[in-house]
Amino acid sequence: MAGKNALVVLAHHDRTSFSYAMKEAAVEALKKKGWSITVSDLYAMKFNPLVSPDDITGNPSDPENFKYLAESRNAYQDGRMSKDIAEEQKKLAAADLVIFQFPMYWFGLPAILKGYFDRILTGGFAYNQSEMFYNGPFKNKKAILSFTTGALESMYSTTGINGDMNVLLWPVQRGILHFCGFQVLEPQISYSIAHTPPEKRSLILEAWKARLGKVWEEKPISFVPNEDFDMSFAGGFVLKKEVVQKYKEPYGPSVGQHMGKPLPPDSQLKAGCTKL
Ligand code: FAD
Repeated sequence: MAGKNALVVLAHHDRTSFSYAMKEAAVEALKKKGWSITVSDLYAMKFNPLVSPDDITGNPSDPENFKYLAESRNAYQDGRMSKDIAEEQKKLAAADLVIFQFPMYWFGLPAILKGYFDRILTGGFAYNQSEMFYNGPFKNKKAILSFTTGALESMYSTTGINGDMNVLLWPVQRGILHFCGFQVLEPQISYSIAHTPPEKRSLILEAWKARLGKVWEEKPISFVPNEDFDMSFAGGFVLKKEVVQKYKEPYGPSVGQHMGKPLPPDSQLKAGCTKL
């Protein structure tokens, strides 16, 4: 994979953690295959996760009524983002593959990683009104969520006490990664890692390395195609009537567009599960 760039974004405070070991394994495996690797270790960088007016340099157009979306979009276009944001955007822009490695916190992302998405995925850079989802600016990039959990896999099943993992993944995989255009590869989930025996943890690290050896050949998770929606304000950005009418599957097309039917099994966990 000479000529390909990977970015690993790590959101864990502890170098003795399993998350750190997964980051190290990723770097080793990808390097072996000839990838160029960049790591953003957010805690080590003391990454600031808070959106604020300091994210732009120069004069805001309305300092009394600072509207982050508009000001950051303009600043991005004029090359006036703060240095830390501009540096991360440069790394993302250069990456063909991005791995986000983190521990699950409160059914979602650690705050430092949520703040990374809040601050780095600026309008104009990561999305536009006419460029989102399958048409997003990152459509030629692939991304993987690789995360550890405290809870068992069974607790994230459709009958588990924590609820279906597919539902928890939707906001990040659809709402952040695919929104910006990323081809979302299957997540790498290390369930209940602190309660996994050491020898099994070593096998998980080896399996991760083996997966990454062929990662560029992987098919992404599928979502409902953009063209199946009425992509206009007048139309409300909903599934086209004819698409809804001809849809006869027993499951809804996706976790979000479920049409009131049962959710499609594993659609956020396995590639190729969406029927539209
Ligand atoms: P660690 O606990 O650091 O490591 C696990 C084990 O792996 C340790 O014994 C470590 O020594 C060992 N290890 C490290 N390196 C290696 C190596 N190279 N080879 C083999 N073994 C190694 N969990 C949920 O499921 N859902 C939640 O909603 C949730 N919310 C949370 C909210 C907060 C604020 C916090 C703090 C935790 C939460 N958790 C939750 C638990 C959290 O997800 C887990 O504690 C975390 O995922 C464990 O991953 P880790 O990388 O920190 O592993």
